[in-house]
Order: sequence, then structure tokens, then C-alpha cells
Amino acid sequence: MGCLLGKLADAPGSSLFFPAAVTAKAGEGDAEAQLSAPAPVHIAAVKKDASGWPLWLSSAAGDALQGWAPRSADAFQKLEKIGSGTYSNVYKAIEVETGAVVALKKVRVDGVGEAESARFMAREIALLRCLGEHDNVVRLHGLVTSRLATAPSLYLVFEYMDHDLTGLVSAATASGARFTLPQVKCYMKQLLSGIEHCHNKGVLHRDIKSSNLLVSEDGILKIADFGLATHFDPDNPRPMTSQVITLWYRPPELMLGATHYSVGVDLWSVGCVLAELLLSEPIFPGRTEVEQLHKVFKLCGTPADDYWDKLKLPHHTFKPYERCMAQKFKDLEPSTLSLLETLLSIDPDMRGTATDALNSEVNTAFTLKASTLKQ
Ligand code: ADP
Ligand code: MG
Repeated sequence: MGCLLGKLADAPGSSLFFPAAVTAKAGEGDAEAQLSAPAPVHIAAVKKDASGWPLWLSSAAGDALQGWAPRSADAFQKLEKIGSGTYSNVYKAIEVETGAVVALKKVRVDGVGEAESARFMAREIALLRCLGEHDNVVRLHGLVTSRLATAPSLYLVFEYMDHDLTGLVSAATASGARFTLPQVKCYMKQLLSGIEHCHNKGVLHRDIKSSNLLVSEDGILKIADFGLATHFDPDNPRPMTSQVITLWYRPPELMLGATHYSVGVDLWSVGCVLAELLLSEPIFPGRTEVEQLHKVFKLCGTPADDYWDKLKLPHHTFKPYERCMAQKFKDLEPSTLSLLETLLSIDPDMRGTATDALNSEVNTAFTLKASTLKQ
């Protein structure tokens, strides 16, 4: 299973540089994020290899660069900034020769975060190339390096997508509208297909959230932002960092420190996205890990006694709550409620797989075409 890039080591640890509150990406300053790259240095100071790739990149993601040549920044005309995350700015741009519209993702390089940013970028390139083409995974067209010796920079060139799901949820909230159930199901089916593809290729995304889900004008959903993704092999489990996934979408076991996990972590996040689409707002908007756990247990129920031993976690005592998901979503049709209940199971094994979810009644009964979702 999966693709053999073999460059991305993964082990638990803790962040040296970033306060835990920055985002889940901050946690990747730990051992897991150590690509087999040379010691971190400022990108602006590094040299290029014979093919013109910055050395930090070819050493960290060399396999993934095969068959590609760096393109010149002159080939693109930047139009406007369309997004920014903790580590990147994303611009809408036009390819001068063809007139094609693309998105250019430039990793922010500012002082102490620079080496971290480089690692995320190398990881994202390696994993995206390993994933290949899929309708519901954003397409990476190539890489651009700036020729300016004083300020060398690297951009990832992506297909351009018109929206992200956060923007669509906010627009719905602002207009007092809600997504219809067919719309929700159509997005879910595409999200689950993309996740199924990642998992079948041995990749955990580890940052599924609505701002990382891009949507085209004609309703096609694509998973983006593989900066936190990693390879996993269910037959040879190895410890991984628990410092992943943006807080609101993070499953309880990661907040409790689990280092052995699998597809269940992504499926929890998918459940949070499903709830968000249904409610038009994030379901667990905690400000701290403690508050986050409290919100989760209040709705999903406090774990039973056997949970701690089963997940090999130190036993904690929490206020006992009964699960009350069915009451909160009492107007939801049974098959969608059942999917939500499954994805938001406290026990990761009960979340099943993306394939199980795709085979569930909620999806097989559903035939609406994405194109009927025109934004
Ligand atoms: P980060 O790792 O900094 O979070 P992302 O890849 O998530 O970077 O991009 C940040 C934002 O930029 C996204 O939330 C989205 O709004 C926008 N964006 C990213 N990729 C594209 C794209 N291909 N087309 C259009 N917008 C995009
Ligand atoms: Mg992002």
C-alpha cells in the first residue's frame, strides 16, 4: 500500500519554537517534522543543485521532484492575494503563455519559522506527488523559483479553485441560509472520496478542516494543504506526534496524547466538517485543549472506563456526560445522523473507514451531481 518516498520520518515529540496555540502546524516543529534534510538554514542563504532546485528542497523531497524542472516566476503574473495560513500566502495568478488561471502558494519565510516552513513545503510536495491525480485532491501543476538572488523564493503552482468551504459556510451564515441536505451530502461524498484515496495510498492528511477544502464554481470539492500529512502503514504502526490537526477538528485521543493512531483521526475531522455544514458553524469551537475536550465530551459523552486501557492512555477523570448527539440533531434524517454518529465516535475504531462511510446508506442513496451545486 502507499507510495515509497521514504523521506518523511515520524515520531512523537514537542515543539521547540511555537506556542501550542498557534495552530496544529506548530506541533510539527518536533521530531516528526524532521525530514531527512540538512540542518535547517534560512532559505535565502541556501544554494541550488544542478537542476536549479534549492538544495534544502532537493535533499528533503528529491524523489518527489523527479521529472520536474523549476519554472521561472516570470512565467506567471500575480493578480491578487486570495488566502493565507500560518505559513503561507496564496495568490491568484495567470500563466502568461497560456492565460490559465492558477493559485501560487508561497511559504512565508520569516525568521525562526523559516526552516519549519521549508519542511512543510517539502512534505506537501512529496505527498501530493505521491497521491497522483484524483478528482477530489487539489492538483499540483509544478513549482516556481524566483530568480532574484537576494530574495529567492519558492511557489507551489496549483489549479485555481474559486472558494474554500469556510468561505461558503460564512456566506451561508451571513445570508441566514443553510446548506440543503443534498448539498451537504454532495460535499461529503466528494470529501470522503478524496480521503479514501489518501488512505488507500497510505497517507493521513491530519489537517482536515473547512478552510483546507476547496470548492470550484461548479461544486467540485478538493482536499488541499498537505503540509501536515504523513505516510502510515496500518500493518506496521509506528508512533506519531499527537500535535496535529487544528484544534476545533482534533479528535479527543490526540488531545489526550495518543501517539498510535490511524485513519480515525481524519474521520473525526470529516465528522466535524459534516456537523459544520449542517449547522453553518463549527461544532466544537474550543479556545484551549481543555475547553475543546469539554465541548467534545459534552456532546459525544465522556469515555467509558475501558477507553483508557484500550487506547493505552493515562487514565483521566472527567465530568461524566451522556452522549446527546441524537438530541442536538433531532431533525436530521436517520441515515445522515447515523453517519455523523459514526464519524464522531469517541472510540477511533468505531469511526470505521472512508470506504465504509461511502458505502453507507447516506451516500449510496445520493445521486445529485456536483454541477447542480453552482455557487
Ligand atoms: P496553509 O498551509 O498556510 O494553511 P493552504 O494551502 O491551506 O495554506 O492555503 C491557505 C488558503 O488559501 C486556503 O484556506 C484557501 O482559502 C486558499 N487557497 C489555497 N489553495 C488554493 C487554490 N488552489 N485555489 C484557490 N484558493 C486556494
Ligand atoms: Mg490551510
